[in-house]
Parts: sequence; C-alpha cells; structure tokens
Amino acid sequence: MAKLLEYQGKGWLREAGLAAPRGRAADTAEQVAAIAVELACPVVVKAQVQAGGRGKSGGLAMADTPVEAAAAALRLLGSELKGGLIRQVLVEEKLDIVHEFYAGYTVNSGREARCPMLMFSPQGGMDIESVPEEKLFRLLVSPTRGPGEPELLDMLQRAEVPPEHRRALVKFLVGLFRAYRTYDCFTLEINPLVLIRAGGFVAADCKMEIDNNSVFRHPEMSIEVARDFGHDPTELDLIGWGIEEADQRGSGFLMSMGFDEKTPGYIGYHPIGGGSAMLGMDALSKVGLKVANYADTSGNPVGSKIYRVAKVVLSQPGIDGYLLGGFMMANQEQWHHAHAIVKALRETLPQRPGLPCLLLLCGNKEEESLAILREGLADVPGGERIEIYGREHVTDTGFIAQKMLSMVHEYQRARGG
Ligand code: GDP
Ligand code: MN
Repeated sequence: MAKLLEYQGKGWLREAGLAAPRGRAADTAEQVAAIAVELACPVVVKAQVQAGGRGKSGGLAMADTPVEAAAAALRLLGSELKGGLIRQVLVEEKLDIVHEFYAGYTVNSGREARCPMLMFSPQGGMDIESVPEEKLFRLLVSPTRGPGEPELLDMLQRAEVPPEHRRALVKFLVGLFRAYRTYDCFTLEINPLVLIRAGGFVAADCKMEIDNNSVFRHPEMSIEVARDFGHDPTELDLIGWGIEEADQRGSGFLMSMGFDEKTPGYIGYHPIGGGSAMLGMDALSKVGLKVANYADTSGNPVGSKIYRVAKVVLSQPGIDGYLLGGFMMANQEQWHHAHAIVKALRETLPQRPGLPCLLLLCGNKEEESLAILREGLADVPGGERIEIYGREHVTDTGFIAQKMLSMVHEYQRARGG
C-alpha cells in the first residue's frame, strides 16, 4: 500500500474537514524553530518515518520553547529510527490531552466480511495489538453508505464512552469514513484520537495507506510509486515501477534486493510467479549464490513487458549469471517469454560474452517456446553458456541451482576470477 507520512495524512484529514493539531513539517532545525515561534505555544517534534511506536523509541520530543524544539530537531534529523532515516520532523502544538481513544478503518477481506471495518477502542495510544480484546470494538461498514449513526452510538455505548462525548465522536467517525473513502484508503488509523481539555476530538496521529490500485485516481497526492518495497526506492525499483505503470497487461514486477556489485556470485534473477521465485531463491542460496534482484513476470504479460524486465535484470553490472526461473507449470502463454528472452539476450550477450544464462520454461505452449529459445539463441555472439530446460526439471530446483553454480564457476575462471 502507498503509505503516507503522518504529516501528509493529517493534511488530507484537514482537507476532509477533520481536526488535526496546528503545525507543519520541516527538514532543518531553523525551520523547526521558526514554526515553534509561529505556533507560539509548547510543541511536539515528531520524527516522520514509516513506523509506529515512535513515542517509546525516542522519536517524539516535547519542547516548551523554540530553542528546545530546534535542539530536538537537531537530535532527530538525519538519525535513524526503526530502520528509517529521519528526513523530516512534524512540529505541532502540544495538545492538552484528557483521554486517548483508538479509531481506524481498514479492509476486512475475510469471507464473512469483504468490506471496510471500523475498529474502535476507548483505550488508545498503545499498539492496537496490545489492546485487550474486550476493549476492542469492530463494526463492519457498508462501503457505499458508510457507518450508520445508530450503530455507532450503540458501539460507543458498549465501549462505555461517557454519554456527553458520544455525539461528537460519532461525527468524527463518520467524517473519518468519508476521508477513508474519498482517498481510497486501505487503512486509515488514528491512534490516538484524543479528547482535549478545551473540548473536542483531535487526530493526534495518523496512519494513512492508499490502496495501490487506486493511486492513479489521486494525482493530487503526487505518489511517485504505488508499490511497497520496504526500503526507499532505488533506481532499479523506479524503472521497474515505470514498466508496470505504463502497461497493466500481466505483472512485470522488479525489486532491488540489496545487490552488492563488488561481491561475486550474484545472479540476475528473473523468476516467473511468486511461489516459483521463492523456490528458486532458496535453491540458489543453498549452493551459495545470491539473487541481485527480485522479479516476476506472470499473469500472462505481453512480450514487450517481459522483454523490458529481462533487459533491466540483465543490465545490472557485476552479475555472474542470468536465471529465467520458471519453477512452475505456468498456464500463461510461455511463448511470449521465449520471444522476449531471445530479443533481450541477443541484444545483451554480445556485450557480456559468456554470461551464464539458464533458462527454465514450462507450461502452456512449452514445446513451441523451447523451440523459439533454441532457434533464436543458437548463433548469438557471446552465447556460449546458455542452457535451456523444460518440464523435466520444473521442480528440480537443486539440479538447476547446481547447474547455475557450475556455469558461474566456469565463467569466473574464464574471466580470470
Ligand atoms: P507513535 O508512538 O509513533 O504512535 O506516535 P503518536 O503520535 O501516537 O504519539 C505517541 C504518544 O505520545 C501518544 O499516545 C500520546 O500519549 C503522546 N503525545 C503525542 N502527541 C502529544 C501531544 O500533543 N500532547 C501530549 N500531552 N501527548 C502527546
Ligand atoms: Mn500513534
């Protein structure tokens, strides 16, 4: 899911008419001090990283003066928190909190539900996982009508929310669903949703994840990549996303895996299908080889898309081989793969002579596909280490990995390595 940072999510909440603390994001201590001066009150300085639990891990700081705020920003900016680099902090008015609630909408994809679900707890602030079950209230919500006021009031009563706060909370929860739907969220979680001393409910935190499939409907959000990597996108990740974004026919997935160009034994990896990809990766790592990247061309992609993925995989400098890992009897038309791989290798191998290329392809139109590969690659300059296999080795991951390893050794020896 396309995950937004807290300050971005809060910006969209405000657009949707919900209350969030006054404040702004900054990337220097000077800006932080200036914002604190502008707010003219005690502030909270909050690290902007894709992680919860910042409170407990030093990612939040309270500051009574702009000088203190700047000092906190100096400590946070540029440091790492929960695996993410802090590039920005959010500077907000410090709220005078009376009580912390939890409120969030997510998609319940269970067979009995298949709809949005509201989760609410009168005990907010902590991880939702550590809220006792009897303090967690769930409400399935119609995706078209949203939550009804009577059912919300009923839920708040069961949650023993004092009667005087129920109306205002219902209003917030209805508004939160409107935001959830307007922005095509997968998850929109406010933890804590706080009751402040002056009265009223304010979103003190915000976790907003946009459904990747809906990102195209939200140009206003300027989300560059509608794909989850678990790391900041690399050049390869961005090129890979560009291939997918431009053509929705079948998947053409590419992702970096922390490839170190200077270490030998990395394979440009081009598996077909996610499960097949895992099998191949296990087998390669058992023989001491590593994958330079993750990829997947499945769901019957067109040849042009497969070709682009193959070209990117092969473009990685320093790889010791290329593995087309079709460790499954695919029901997609495999000849698109065959045509694409032939074109990619014919263009690449003259520049990378002798690169070990192991091509395992089976399933629909297998015979024709293998014939295309054999014929198309028979005379390619630089193609002295090409092995082509079909269904006889489909689950034979150990054999394929061993074969890859011996080709890699041969290649390394030939290059004097
Ligand atoms: P998280 O730990 O990453 O989820 O960060 P939160 O923004 O949820 O903050 C964690 C906790 O810090 C909250 O549950 C509050 O108890 C506290 N906190 C955050 N903002 C404020 C604030 O403005 N005033 C006060 N008094 N406490 C705050
Ligand atoms: Mn939180």
